[in-house]
Amino acid sequence: MGSILVFAEHLGSDFKRGTYELLTAAQTSGLEVNALVLGPGSEPLAKKLGAWGVKEALVCEDNNLKEYNPELFLSIVAEAISSLKPEYVLAPASMLCRDLFPRVAQKVTSAVASDCTELSFTGGAADVRKPLYAGRCSAKIEFQNSTSGMTKIILMRANQLPVGSPMGQAEVSIKKLSLKPVDLKTKIKEIVKGATEKLDLTEANIIVSGGRGMKGPEHFKLLEDLASVLGATVGASRAVVDAGWVPHSMQVGQTGKTVAPTLYIACGISGAIQHLAGMSGSKVIVAINKDPDAPIFQKSTYGIVGDVFEVVPALTEEFKKLLQ
Ligand code: FAD
Repeated sequence: MGSILVFAEHLGSDFKRGTYELLTAAQTSGLEVNALVLGPGSEPLAKKLGAWGVKEALVCEDNNLKEYNPELFLSIVAEAISSLKPEYVLAPASMLCRDLFPRVAQKVTSAVASDCTELSFTGGAADVRKPLYAGRCSAKIEFQNSTSGMTKIILMRANQLPVGSPMGQAEVSIKKLSLKPVDLKTKIKEIVKGATEKLDLTEANIIVSGGRGMKGPEHFKLLEDLASVLGATVGASRAVVDAGWVPHSMQVGQTGKTVAPTLYIACGISGAIQHLAGMSGSKVIVAINKDPDAPIFQKSTYGIVGDVFEVVPALTEEFKKLLQ
């Protein structure tokens, strides 16, 4: 039986949601599922993976892997792939993996399908699709016969696949890898964290998003206030990103991030199809819009027809009373 290797990206205390999506998909492949966990704290985390169908977890606790360095990560990932020779490597299409895996593919001579949004397995073979031309169409990717015997790498966007449930406390065998000395060509000297410590949109459990109805960047403060009471992350529509009000990292939608929070509050967002493509996986959607015919109301669990400048501060006050 061939095998599949899941690159298990984590946040130190737990795996990222995208990792659980990949583990769930890997279990449907019929292939043996193994995982690679890197960085300090990876061994205790890896012990959870038995419950996710993982037979063997390769771990490297080396402190030099605490922060991403492409040369060090390349060395250890290439070593893991060369020793296991998996049929497939599944990794999230995160910033880190988008940078790392083309290098890995070149080093271990493998094929890559990146930024995929659909993944299924038929008889152990992967079927993948990815969006093209800013989401105007999607392409089916097939690995050619010439890749037979070669590892194939698939990078999946987060929040595209379902997450299954853990299966009790199954054992996982842990294999420790050690980082070989690398003659580094680059060195990270300093990391300056962004101003916000908020969770990335793709990991957030609650999102407060703003659209053109917010009228200007200065009014995003209203959304920040609501988000801070709820412990939420602030997102945005493309219209306001294109207008330069907020950075692209905050964009939700087809050409932004795909999110799947428990609660999504859309403020002054019309509900264009490209925006819905990125957030319709949210469990509960609350829309605030002054136009009762706005398309967002057709997708929302609760709709508030009203002015964001009245409704949002009122919600912030009410949640403050309830939660603080
Ligand atoms: P608008 O459509 O202008 O809506 C503003 C809403 O605010 C209106 O419904 C209005 O009634 C309401 N409003 C105004 N004032 C108030 C007020 N005071 N109180 C309450 N409500 C008020 N869009 C995305 O979001 N994400 C994407 O990833 C994305 N990708 C795209 C890719 C392609 C290829 C294309 C062609 C488009 C894409 N778009 C995307 C753009 C999308 O089509 C819409 O243009 C965009 O989502 C509209 O943003 P909006 O809802 O903020 O603005």
